[in-house]
Amino acid sequence: MTESEDIRLLRDAVRRFVDQHMPREAARRWDKENIFPREVYAELGKMGVMGLTVPTEYGGQGVDIPATMAVIEELAKRSSAVACPYIMAACYAGMNLVESGSESQKRAFLPKVAKGEFMFAYGLSEPNVGGDLAMVETTARREGNRILVNGTKRWCTGAHIADYVFCLARTGPKEERYKNLTIFLVPPKAQGVTIRPLDHLGIRGVETNDAIFDDVEIGEDAILGGPQMWNQGWRQLAGRALEVEKLELSAVALGLAEAACADAIEYAETRVQFGKPIGAHQAIRHTIAEAKTKTLAMRLMLANAAALVQERKPSALESSMTKLFCCEGAAEVTLACQRVMGAYGLSDLTDMVRYVRDAISLPIVGGSSNMQKNNIANRLKLAE
Ligand SMILES: Cc1cc2nc3c(=O)[nH]c(=O)nc-3n(C[C@H](O)[C@H](O)[C@H](O)COP(=O)(O)OP(=O)(O)OC[C@H]3O[C@@H](n4cnc5c(N)ncnc54)[C@H](O)[C@@H]3O)c2cc1C
Repeated sequence: MTESEDIRLLRDAVRRFVDQHMPREAARRWDKENIFPREVYAELGKMGVMGLTVPTEYGGQGVDIPATMAVIEELAKRSSAVACPYIMAACYAGMNLVESGSESQKRAFLPKVAKGEFMFAYGLSEPNVGGDLAMVETTARREGNRILVNGTKRWCTGAHIADYVFCLARTGPKEERYKNLTIFLVPPKAQGVTIRPLDHLGIRGVETNDAIFDDVEIGEDAILGGPQMWNQGWRQLAGRALEVEKLELSAVALGLAEAACADAIEYAETRVQFGKPIGAHQAIRHTIAEAKTKTLAMRLMLANAAALVQERKPSALESSMTKLFCCEGAAEVTLACQRVMGAYGLSDLTDMVRYVRDAISLPIVGGSSNMQKNNIANRLKLAE
């Protein structure tokens, strides 16, 4: 696929960074021990790539969604422990602040995002709430000038390293499904917040947590977009930043599929069975041919959706299609590549196990494949 010269140069720079600062052995350890490599992330920040979602007037490089996706893809090939914090900074914080932040929030936070010194954790899911986010049970109520937040956010990735939890809370009667929801920026170090780590199969390296809020006191300045955005959270959530979230996960999927194909091809060329490299057996040739074909289709889907978002054209349909296709595709491609590598594909001695664990998580997280199919069918106005 042809890419702009700017993105090609950016990819080369990120690949050099990955080779220099993220060797395979280290990345395996971050994954296994669920470690966030803070020093590597700090080095990445110096490259200026977190500023790819930040307008120049706030100290960034100017919003460039295709470039942001290229960075995510290249990082995800090697490690979720660096790709996820990048997403937490550039996308969760950068995109949401640009799209929905008040002017004072933008001035205070976006320059820090651009420097790699600021990130959000997403506090959407809860113990009783997954796909049906409009039913969140975390509440916030006003008492004079104070706002008190109560409830539990589950699977809150990186809450322990984030500057704020981007917290969707109910601020009125739940019968009004999409109304009465507000987004708050809650500091995880505030009094009344407890962060408890959860273990899970894939997308490791940045712990996922329960973030428990017990009468956490915040001010009106903690409302995303300012006090007038009380009860406007759904509108803010369902906007362009959510479309970009689907693309972020698609970029992770693409990175995993590419990495799995590359490792499988290398193995197929060097592993000799029955007198020839296994890559010369037709079954393996076809498996790889199919995997590479699917991966190219993923790349084209992502490029198309990223270009639409960049140009501010309608992209809700395409971003859901891309999330569905890329995340299911990554699971299929990595499982096929794992078989090419036989027993070694099941071993911690290779990276294939990580690709598979991360890839099979993707059709679940960030809006499941079924939710994407519902979105697509709704956008197509199919009968219910
Ligand atoms: C590693 C990891 C990291 C995560 N990080 C975050 C994070 O940082 N912040 C955050 O807020 N959340 C996070 N999540 C949560 C994730 O986004 C949710 O798991 C996801 O939204 C799905 O919700 P659920 O698992 O509760 O599934 P549910 O919504 O309970 O769904 C269960 C099953 O039912 C299906 N289903 C549900 N409703 C329908 C329907 N209407 N039609 C058809 N099928 C349906 C789903 O597709 C799924 O197969 C993370 C999860 C994991 C595992």
